[in-house]
Amino acid sequence: MDCIFCKIINGEIPSEVVLESKDFIAIKNIHPKSPVHILVMPKAHVEKTDSISGKNESFWSDFMLFANGVISKYDLDKFGYRIINNGAGYQGVDHEHIHVMGGENWRPSDGL
Ligand code: AMP
Ligand code: ZN
Repeated sequence: MDCIFCKIINGEIPSEVVLESKDFIAIKNIHPKSPVHILVMPKAHVEKTDSISGKNESFWSDFMLFANGVISKYDLDKFGYRIINNGAGYQGVDHEHIHVMGGENWRPSDGL
């Protein structure tokens, strides 16, 4: 399958892994938009239509628990953070992922 995140997960494309579990992985965004900009994703190729279908009831709670580990690892609970999950065409890569963004002195510029 021609999915850039699957290629990262299977090692075909190099990445900087910051946290990993059996089912999830977190890597540094290659084009960071904040001092800390981590992409958190399931290791399985899960597309939005599947992830929001509700078929896997614990998917989002497991996913968020893992993302919370990234937040803790970078002390973003002290500095502040934003989580972004794009969908329905807002995303460039159709392999489910969460952006964890933050860092010391960083504030989103859009006022949201
Ligand atoms: P989205 O627009 O939500 O689908 O975000 C996809 C993200 O993947 C973008 O922020 C890209 O900078 C990031 N990205 C693309 N290719 C790579 C890569 N090889 N390694 C790390 N991050 C990447
Ligand atoms: Zn994939």
